Amino acid sequence: MASQEIERLAGALARLPGLGPRSARRAVLWLVKRRETALVALRNALEDVHARLAECGTCGNIDTTDPCAICADPRRDARQLCVVEDVADLWALDRARLFPGRYHVLGGRLSALDGIGPEDLRIGDLRARVAAGGIDEVVLAMNATLEGQTTAHYIAERLEGLAVRVTQLAHGLPVGGELDYLDEGTLAQALRARRPVA
Ligand SMILES: [Zn+2]
Repeated sequence: MASQEIERLAGALARLPGLGPRSARRAVLWLVKRRETALVALRNALEDVHARLAECGTCGNIDTTDPCAICADPRRDARQLCVVEDVADLWALDRARLFPGRYHVLGGRLSALDGIGPEDLRIGDLRARVAAGGIDEVVLAMNATLEGQTTAHYIAERLEGLAVRVTQLAHGLPVGGELDYLDEGTLAQALRARRPVA
C-alpha cells in the first residue's frame, strides 16, 4: 500500500498529458530512489518555473517577462501576426525563426466535443488587437485537423470588416497533422505558401 505522499504526487503527475496513473506511480518511485539528485533537481526546476514564468498579457506566450521577449522585440515585424492554438505551436514556428512577425496564442481550439467555445479562447483579445490597428496580415496557423480548421474559419469570420489580410497555412500539412510535430522544412513551406482564407 503506497503512502499518502506518493499517491498525492502520482495523482498530480497522472494529470499531465501523456502520463497515466501507472507510469506516474513508476516515475514517483524512480524519483524517491534518487532523492538527492533527480528529486531535488525536479523540485528546484518546478519552483523556478512557478516563480519566474508567466503568460504574456499581449500574446499568451509563456516567458519570464510580460510582455514576452517576442512582443518586446523591436526587430519583429509588428504588421504581421501569426495566430496559433498553443504555446507549443508558437515555439515550433519560432525555433527556426520561420516567422518574422509576432504571435497570438488562442489557448486551444474550438471543440464541440470537449465543450470549448469561442469565449474559452483568446479570440476576443485577438479581434481587439487587430482592431487597434497597425497589423496588415493575420496568418492563421491552426493545426490541419477538423477542429483546427473550424477554428480558423470562425476566426476569419470574426475578423471580417477589419482592414487586415487574413491568410492561412498551405496544406501541404499532412491531414490530421499537428504543428508541433512537423519538421521545420514542412513548416517553412506551409508558411511560405500561405493563402487567403476561403
Ligand atoms: Zn507576448
